Amino acid sequence: MPADADRLIQMAHGAGAMDAAVISTDHIIVEDKLAKLCKDPGCENYGLSMSCPPHVSGPDGFRKLLKNYNKAIVFKIDVPYTILFSNERNDWFRLLHEIASGIEQGAVKMGYKNSKAFAGGSCRQIFCSGYIDCEVVVRNGKCRNPEYARPSMSGFGINVKKLMKQAGFELDDSKAQPNNKPSSGTLSGLVLIG
Ligand code: SF4
Repeated sequence: MPADADRLIQMAHGAGAMDAAVISTDHIIVEDKLAKLCKDPGCENYGLSMSCPPHVSGPDGFRKLLKNYNKAIVFKIDVPYTILFSNERNDWFRLLHEIASGIEQGAVKMGYKNSKAFAGGSCRQIFCSGYIDCEVVVRNGKCRNPEYARPSMSGFGINVKKLMKQAGFELDDSKAQPNNKPSSGTLSGLVLIG
C-alpha cells in the first residue's frame, strides 16, 4: 500500500488538491448529531438529491461500511471566502468532486475495486442546478453525472474538522488575518481505499 498510496497522493495533487494524506480509517470520527444538522437547522438542498440525506445510509450505514476499510486518502482545497460567497463557488465544488472521483477511480484501476469517494456540498446544486430536479430521486432514473458526483460527507456525520487534524492539515484559523478572520475556507474530500 505505501507505494500505491504515494501514487494516489500524487494523483490528488496533480488534479488540484492543495494537500493530501493517508490516514487509518480508525481515525475517522462519525457523529449522529452532525448528520442531523442537514435536516435541522437544515440545508436548502436537504432531500433534493440521491447523494444527500435522507437518501443516503447516514452515520449507521457509514460505520458499517468503514469496517471494510483500513486506509483512506484525505485531501483539501483552500478557497478564498470572496469566491466561496460568489457565483464562482460551484466551480470549486465541482473541482472537489472531480478530485475525489479521480482518486477513487485511480484506486479502482490499481486494484482497490471497492474504493469509495465522498466530497462536500450538494450535487443537486453543483451539477444539476440547470435541471428542475434530481433524476434519481424523482424518476428513479440514472444519475446525470455518475462520473463525478459523489455523496457529501455531511450526510454521514463525518467530523471533517477532526479528519483535517488527523491528516495533519493546517486549519483555517491558523491563517487568520489581522482582523482575526480567516480569509479562506477549506473544502475537503475523503476516499476509502479498499
Ligand atoms: S442526477 Fe444530479 S442531483 Fe441527482 S444524484 Fe445525479 S448529480 Fe446529484
